[in-house]
Amino acid sequence: MVLDERRMQRNRQRLEAERDRLRQELDRLTAVMDDRERPGLSTHMADHGSEVFEQAKNLAVGERLRETLQSVIKALQKMDRGTYTVCDRCGGQIDPARLKALPHATLCKPCQALMERAPRSR
Ligand SMILES: [Zn+2]
Repeated sequence: MVLDERRMQRNRQRLEAERDRLRQELDRLTAVMDDRERPGLSTHMADHGSEVFEQAKNLAVGERLRETLQSVIKALQKMDRGTYTVCDRCGGQIDPARLKALPHATLCKPCQALMERAPRSR
C-alpha cells in the first residue's frame, strides 16, 4: 500500500504549517527567555526559585520543539526526494496509517520502538 498523491499533498501542507508554527513558538520562547534575563524587568513578586523553574521548563520545552521541528524538516526533505514513505533506519515502507497520524514520522513503527528503547548512541 502506498500513499496517494492527494494524501501526500495534504501531509505536505500539514508539515509546512507545523514547521511555521514550531518556528513561531520557538521565537516566542526565545523572546520570553531574553526578557527574563534582563535585570530589573521583573517587578512582580515572583521569587527566584520559580524563576529558575520557569527557565528550566522553557529550556525543556524549547528542546522538544526543536526536536520536533527537525523531524518535520527532515520529513519535508524526504518528500522532495521522493523517499517520504521509506523508513530512515531499515529502508522499509512506513505504514501509511502511521504517516496519516504522524506526518513527521521518519521511521517505521518497529524501528521507532527500537530507537526509543535503545540508549542514545554517541
Ligand atoms: Zn524501519
